[in-house]
Amino acid sequence: MTIGNARSKAAGYAALALATLFAGSALADGTVNIYTYRQPELIQPVLDAFTAETGIKTEVLFLDKGLEERILAEGQNSPADVIMTVDVARLTTAKEKGVTQALDDATVNANLPAEYRDPEGHWFGVTKRARVVYASKERVKDTTITYAELADPKWKGKICMRSGQHDYNLALFGAAIAHWGPEKTEEWMKGLKANLARKPEGGDRPQAKAIAAGECDIAIGNTYYVGLMRTNEKDSQEKEWGNGINVLFPTFENGLTHVNISGAALAKNAPNRENGVKLIQFLSSHKAQQVYAEKNFEYPVEPGLEPSETVKAFGELKSDTLPLVEIAKNRKAASEMVDRVGLDDGPAS
Ligand code: FE
Repeated sequence: MTIGNARSKAAGYAALALATLFAGSALADGTVNIYTYRQPELIQPVLDAFTAETGIKTEVLFLDKGLEERILAEGQNSPADVIMTVDVARLTTAKEKGVTQALDDATVNANLPAEYRDPEGHWFGVTKRARVVYASKERVKDTTITYAELADPKWKGKICMRSGQHDYNLALFGAAIAHWGPEKTEEWMKGLKANLARKPEGGDRPQAKAIAAGECDIAIGNTYYVGLMRTNEKDSQEKEWGNGINVLFPTFENGLTHVNISGAALAKNAPNRENGVKLIQFLSSHKAQQVYAEKNFEYPVEPGLEPSETVKAFGELKSDTLPLVEIAKNRKAASEMVDRVGLDDGPAS
């Protein structure tokens, strides 16, 4: 037997084990089955609150890849009721691969602003995160910055970032294309590349680490990581990285900052559809929005609801109102641009 066969056989057993796991509950009245790319600890608080309010139990399957393929392979028998994930790209991918269904629910539509949900009801943004600038407290005295200025030669050799092909950056570049058009965005990206301190690598947190190490002065990263680092009682180094930076909210010409979402979608088959709908309604509710804000350092999508104290300390976020579907449409163009510009090769020598 080849290794490949052994692997696919192992995957088969895993799928069987899962079917058995859900078998007792898949059609039970009081359960909702969730497939997620999100770290279990990030969604558990809000799921616990859901169970406390509705009495509906949650079964969570955490996957780090292949969520859509899994649901497609399970076909009609898929126990998945609700999909939870981050990033508009992953939500639109789930829709495009045909593993979601439309939901037109008055409560959900009233709770969630239109720019953060699919116009056809296939996915819903339930929290926001902003893609901002981490700036060295020691070395950067600027208190404001624009996205355009990331290409200003004054930052030459001073910027760190993760791969340009990561979902978070592709969404930012997709937003830039929507605001500036492709030509201006490509010129800007060349300037950004020229300003890099090193080849893009690692996640967002390692960019804060690189600032602490003096490798760069500013970096591009998501807001919630700063909250997670600053409150990390288990890792004093992370705390130092988080406390070594200020958050600057870069803006486009409209004065607003790029945001992305974490969201939920009703799965195509949803054996417990009614419970799935109840979960999505709950995620959009004031109570769930509060839990998300306090525990995850994300921004509520509910208009007017404040983030946690830790997040408030970053300063005021003014979220871009560009519909996320516009950003998702530009994903492919953004990805091709990153390759053309050679952004991931790092600064020119
Ligand atoms: Fe993340």
